[in-house]
Amino acid sequence: MPSSDKFHDECGVVAIFAHPEAEKLAYLGLHALQHRGQESAGIVTSDGLTSRVHRAMGLVADIFTEDVLSKMRGSLAIGHTRYSTAGDSALLNAQPILVQSNKGAIAVAHNGNLVNATEIRGRLERQGSIFQTNSDTEVIVHLIALSKEQTLPEAMADALRRVEGAFSLVMMSNDRIFAARDPRGFRPLAMGRIPALEGQRRDTVVFASETCAFDLIGATYERDVKPGELVVVGPEGTSSRFYSTSAPQSSCIFEHVYFSRPDSVVFGRAVQTSREELGRQLAREAPVDADLIVPVPDSGVTAAVGYAAESGIPFRFALIRNHYVGRTFIEPRQSVRDFGVKLKLNPVRSLLQGNRVVLVDDSIVRGTTSRKIVRMIRNAGAKEVHLRISCPPTISPCYYGVDTPSKKQLIAANQSVEEIREYIGADSLAYLSLEGLKKACGEGETTSYCSACYTGKYPTNIVDVDEILPATVRP
Ligand code: SF4
Repeated sequence: MPSSDKFHDECGVVAIFAHPEAEKLAYLGLHALQHRGQESAGIVTSDGLTSRVHRAMGLVADIFTEDVLSKMRGSLAIGHTRYSTAGDSALLNAQPILVQSNKGAIAVAHNGNLVNATEIRGRLERQGSIFQTNSDTEVIVHLIALSKEQTLPEAMADALRRVEGAFSLVMMSNDRIFAARDPRGFRPLAMGRIPALEGQRRDTVVFASETCAFDLIGATYERDVKPGELVVVGPEGTSSRFYSTSAPQSSCIFEHVYFSRPDSVVFGRAVQTSREELGRQLAREAPVDADLIVPVPDSGVTAAVGYAAESGIPFRFALIRNHYVGRTFIEPRQSVRDFGVKLKLNPVRSLLQGNRVVLVDDSIVRGTTSRKIVRMIRNAGAKEVHLRISCPPTISPCYYGVDTPSKKQLIAANQSVEEIREYIGADSLAYLSLEGLKKACGEGETTSYCSACYTGKYPTNIVDVDEILPATVRP
């Protein structure tokens, strides 16, 4: 993404069962999932008897050096890459969480957000439980440990029935992998397989937030873990149980709009198909007489391809992204206007000069970055700039694992489309309709979606609103 004026992804999880280099496959899987979170990463491995953990702040390739991985060899592994959504981003809250309990070693990696974690935590603390982190995930670990059920799968099912909200989980004991999704299926979790290597007794079973992780480790996508399902993979084979079946499915539609990689299959549907169709639908709903379709890289690229294909207007990369931008940069003493955006994006004047441009992006959060980009394109000589957004106005925060600003910071929650257009300085501005969004993402085909950030209608009771609102828009 060219800017931090964007929604932030939640987390990515991966699990490997029965591979002689499980730690390396987990590492590669996390590497492919880093678009979902880059603040910290961790892996827990097991050789069947003992579990080892390594977690650190930073990027996967920096954390897991050859030396680190050589000390945590195992045949089972789970991994997690994190962008903080609940609890602060300190190492303390990095995952997976590994604990020794009365049911043996349990490791847990979580993508999503629980909406009743504070309530449960308060109750458990009053009963004497001691928490090590301020992450909502630890609640699940305590509930598993405290469950009266005799077997670990039953204790997990018992714990999962007590929590509310969004969770795609991979968990591990010394000799088993467990994968579960919340009953509404907010976040994705896919299951795949690597055929047994020569001399290996069984296939390797893998799980990952997105199927792009499978491609890198040579696994084939088999199916999604279903909402309300707990899959157990162990020495005896793979088994599945539904710990809950009561809730209607509400998978996060924003996974298709922005979060997931276009080369992934998410909720049983290719993200590329949805994203291109978002652009086509946008062109049908909000056509404009123009000379060029220009994406905001990388977020707007696939939708812009769709818009160009549907409208017949040529597609051009007239904004070039610098891929080598770190988190902080030293600015010259005499400050440069729009310095942050200019560091990341530069216009191609020869393409823009004298042309009417349709600029395509996937969202507007506060509007500050869109305003700078429009100004940049005009300054490069464009005659007109028409902004098209491949989803409806975002009017409400997410409570299910996506870092959104509070309502007062979301521009569309406070201003009309015309007011936003004026602020941004575009000649015209149009968003995709909610119906168009759902149609483009195949609502009702392989899944039904949550679209609460566009409607304010949430599929769960929201219990811990204050606790789970990250709400800080980074400058
Ligand atoms: S509120 Fe929006 S971002 Fe959050 S789960 Fe629902 S659709 Fe996804």
